[in-house]
Amino acid sequence: MGQPTYRQKLLFDTGLWRFVVHKHAATRLHYDLRLEHAGVFKNWAVPCGPCLDPTRHRLAVLVKDHTIDCAGAEGIIPAGLYGAGTILLWDRGIWRTDQDVDWALRIGRLKFKLRGKKLKGSWSLTRMTSESSAKREKWLLSKENDTEAKSLSEMDILVEQPASVLSGRTLAEIARDPPPFVRGKSRRKKPPPNQPPLFLDDFEL
Ligand code: MN
Repeated sequence: MGQPTYRQKLLFDTGLWRFVVHKHAATRLHYDLRLEHAGVFKNWAVPCGPCLDPTRHRLAVLVKDHTIDCAGAEGIIPAGLYGAGTILLWDRGIWRTDQDVDWALRIGRLKFKLRGKKLKGSWSLTRMTSESSAKREKWLLSKENDTEAKSLSEMDILVEQPASVLSGRTLAEIARDPPPFVRGKSRRKKPPPNQPPLFLDDFEL
């Protein structure tokens, strides 16, 4: 990585980091919540997807860290690669927390705020497995009760807003006519200096 830009530095200093949610038709359909922390994404695979209803808690399995350059991934991950299948950028934005993130991950309780195109307001991730050394930690993703909360009977955001925030297309549309898949390439190539991922510019600070 080159020198951080003013904008990246500002995001870091203000404790705002990137988050994305991918909708991912791999072996099974799931959503991937990715929170930027310490230069990588922390990732939870959420089989049933996020829910705006504070009374519904969604299983979120902590999976391995991902590099930040997967943020814009959309298309078809070729067979044989990790996560092979169709992937769609379902939401993106910035996140923040008042907690020390490493501490919160250690104790298994992270409270945070999202400012995305679809997901907003206060959320929490709570570890269910008692041992943090469990191979695949099970957490619960929950919406906190605030003005962004909605009961599931009122609105299922997964049904009402299924499309990509990048292309406006659905999984089926992407599968039918996939854009060229570039993740492998961009990982090898060094990003040009002072070039934050494009989507940061979507957000007013
Ligand atoms: Mn996935």
